[in-house]
Parts: sequence; structure tokens; C-alpha cells
Amino acid sequence: MKPLNAPHKIDHDFRLYVPYPEGWKAHIKQGWEKQYCYAKNEGEDFFHLILNGEIFLVHGDEKYCLNCAMKQGILTSERLHWQNKRPDENRTKL
Ligand SMILES: [Zn+2]
Repeated sequence: MKPLNAPHKIDHDFRLYVPYPEGWKAHIKQGWEKQYCYAKNEGEDFFHLILNGEIFLVHGDEKYCLNCAMKQGILTSERLHWQNKRPDENRTKL
């Protein structure tokens, strides 16, 4: 299969990191069966629909779109995240 819009110039780093990776898995949604992100944005009264082909994260029964994973500190684009962690820092405090 041919990738869309390839080749594509990359002007910034798209790589993402899970600072606390234990138990997390990355998936690509396949098919149109309805699946929803586990989180909501502040002020929204709906869950985000995860679309066919969308990359999302799973931990147990929890599914997160990448936007919510970033907002909750599950994901970071900071490559050197491990250097900036305080010893007492953990995900539940974010
Ligand atoms: Zn979401």
C-alpha cells in the first residue's frame, strides 16, 4: 500500500514518548466499530470517537486518543523527559 502524501518533508520532531510505559500499548484502530476515548476535554459533555486508522493508547480497559494522552501527561514530545523528572513525580499528580 502506498502511503498518503509521501515523500513528506518533516520540519519538526513527531516522535512521542510514554514516560511511564508499564502497561501501556499503542494501537491503530481498524474498522468502523464505535470506540471512544476514555477522557473528555474540560467543558465537553461527550467522549471522543476514535476513527478507523487512528493511533490510540490502551491501558487495561482505558483507551485514550493522542490529544488526551498528551493533556494527561501519559504522552510527551519531550525527548529528554527522563532527565527532567523529579524523584517524587508520578502521572497521577499531573
Ligand atoms: Zn480523547
